[in-house]
Amino acid sequence: MENIIKILQKYNIQPSYQRIKILEILDKKREHMNVNMIYDELSKEIPTISKATIYNTVNAFVEKGLVNCLTITPEEARYDFDITPHHHLLCKKCGKIIDVHVKCPYTESMEIDGHRIEEIRGYFKGICKECLSHETL
Ligand SMILES: [Zn+2]
Ligand SMILES: [Zn+2]
Repeated sequence: MENIIKILQKYNIQPSYQRIKILEILDKKREHMNVNMIYDELSKEIPTISKATIYNTVNAFVEKGLVNCLTITPEEARYDFDITPHHHLLCKKCGKIIDVHVKCPYTESMEIDGHRIEEIRGYFKGICKECLSHETL
């Protein structure tokens, strides 16, 4: 909790109770959650919280650069607390988004053909190893 407050302050975000709680969930469950998933978790603890509040809060986090918004699934935004450049695998079977750590030359150079690169998003689509293991059974 202390840590979460410090992070919010570092990004010039007023650490309100709801903001702390929302960031805490993103930190605890590194599952690239969408608004509904955050809502399902948080409403157990704060029954009065609304999806609109969560939506506005995470988008404020994205605007401040504290959280990354993943658009790998066009129908919904998913949120990632890990803002270091890394790539994602979307499992077409279970819908999970998993961090993949591949060596990518672009994450090191930040420059391509004289252009300055500020964001790197790599998306892979396939079947995750968990789903694959069920397939072979
Ligand atoms: Zn899967
Ligand atoms: Zn990620």
